[in-house]
Amino acid sequence: MQKVSDRLYTILNIAIGVEMLLLISVWAVLTFVIDLFPPDQVLGLNALTLSLCGVVGFYSLVVFWFVRKKFSNYIAAMATMVMSSLALAAIFQFSGDFSAPLYFLWIGVVFASGAFGAAFIVMYLSMVAIYFLFVISGTFDTTTTIATASILAGTDVLAGILGFYFWRHFYKADTQHSNRKQTAANLQAEIVINSIADGVLVVDSEGKIATFNPAAAAITGWKIEDAIGLKFNSVLTLMQLSDDEKTEPTEVDLNNHPVTAAIKSSSNVVKDSEILRTLNDKQLEITLVVSPIIVEGSTQGAVAVFRDVSAQRKAERQRAEFISTASHEMRTPVAAIEGYLALALNEKVAKVDSKARSYLEKAHDSTEHLGQLFKDLLTAAKSEDGRLTNHPVVIDIYKLLAQISEDVRFSVEKKGLQLHFVAAGAGGQSQQGETTVNPLTYIHADPERIREVITNLVNNAVKFTEEGSVTVGLRVLEEYVQISVQDTGYGIPAEDIPHLFQKFYRVDNSNTRAIGGTGLGLFISRNIIELYKGKIWVESEYGTGSTFFINLPRLPIEKAEELKKKEEAEVAPLQVEQSL
Ligand code: ADP
Repeated sequence: MQKVSDRLYTILNIAIGVEMLLLISVWAVLTFVIDLFPPDQVLGLNALTLSLCGVVGFYSLVVFWFVRKKFSNYIAAMATMVMSSLALAAIFQFSGDFSAPLYFLWIGVVFASGAFGAAFIVMYLSMVAIYFLFVISGTFDTTTTIATASILAGTDVLAGILGFYFWRHFYKADTQHSNRKQTAANLQAEIVINSIADGVLVVDSEGKIATFNPAAAAITGWKIEDAIGLKFNSVLTLMQLSDDEKTEPTEVDLNNHPVTAAIKSSSNVVKDSEILRTLNDKQLEITLVVSPIIVEGSTQGAVAVFRDVSAQRKAERQRAEFISTASHEMRTPVAAIEGYLALALNEKVAKVDSKARSYLEKAHDSTEHLGQLFKDLLTAAKSEDGRLTNHPVVIDIYKLLAQISEDVRFSVEKKGLQLHFVAAGAGGQSQQGETTVNPLTYIHADPERIREVITNLVNNAVKFTEEGSVTVGLRVLEEYVQISVQDTGYGIPAEDIPHLFQKFYRVDNSNTRAIGGTGLGLFISRNIIELYKGKIWVESEYGTGSTFFINLPRLPIEKAEELKKKEEAEVAPLQVEQSL
């Protein structure tokens, strides 16, 4: 469609706008200053044509800029052309057709039409030809003789031909200019991509590597010239660990590759930890972000940016290892101190005066806190690197929750709060107490881990609630079960919510400052829930209360029965062995 650059359409539009204003000025000068001849008869500049000129002038100098924003320069300038042609046609109608003094302006329009392509020149010339035929046939009562009409029509054709070549030449020059600009921009983009310290790999619409920067070459071991043109997965070869992590990692197939996922979904794919197999068969841990390249609504490939984080991850593992060893080692002496302090406080065993007792009580509380901190640190470190003991079994979630609720009842009521257990079936009808929601609602997880999470949420609810109640809820939905722990406590400020599940994060305000804690409970809870492919989040209104939600995938009944049978089969021989 577009034949010349946007810049040229803009210039053309401005030229027409100025021309229209000039016509109005000419009329004003001739009428008021020189008072030469009535311009409405000779030049066709009367109330109607002057208004038309005014409208075109206003459009091209004001409205054009909005239209080009909404549509394009091509469309906006074409509207200027069409409107100015109409204004000129009206002028000729009032001033002697082909022999009108302003006819040269029409020639200008035919010349300019070349900017919109050959089709437009043909259209304008056809209009001239039809008009010419009307003149010959004497259809109009005009002052134009056939001779003048022929000369003028001839100049029109000439203007058309000249316009055609002129604009073509201009377009070429213009594209050359923009090509040069484009090349310069490409060169700059290449310099930038090559300077990026992360590996950058651009995949084209056929899945072949189009760009591969030096950092990508250094990470993967492939030379740039060898990698270009290859299918992306032969260079960005990802490996996956087997579920039990006992067998060798296997290659991620093309359909499951993050690059394929980004192209298919036309959205970014972010991977925190992937294993890359290099050309030299080394396995590296990388982070990977794949973004689709979307041109005019369709996905034309993808850009993958990756970083070798092997050293960083190794350091993290060592740090976690140190923390877990240190906490493990320190738990024993702390437990001993706690035990001896408890003995010292036991009136049957030791006699201490009241002052010493108050000191010992403080020491005992702090040691208890320290013991909890070490325990949490150990669990957090284990939950981070997947060393948490995990023996998933088929769990009837209703039964488990009912049991946990009973177990925590004492600590909730001790603080003067009420405890409710509310369960609702798939239909959403809420029932309280003993009612079985759906006797066959199963999940696959380690009950001890789930207990740890729920207990932590209930303990938090108790800690951060002064009066009211704590409600443990269960909702059974088609694909998952939703567990909730709701309280009527302090609530959590909105700005703290996004950080709540981070390690060591604690809300710091006047309500919470005096309440003890490690800031590890929710971090551990999130890791455990994610281990079972679930989701944990919180909704809270500051001053009113909080509700923590957990979604866990529901185990289909047939699958649950099948797994249960397997579990029983595994336990049975053990029992026989024990009885022998
Ligand atoms: P801890 O309770 O040991 O501080 P958590 O990770 O369990 O650590 O909780 C982190 C923080 O989240 C708490 O310190 C508290 O500020 C906030 N929080 C957690 N649960 C609640 C709740 N039910 N009501 C209000 N604040 C809460």
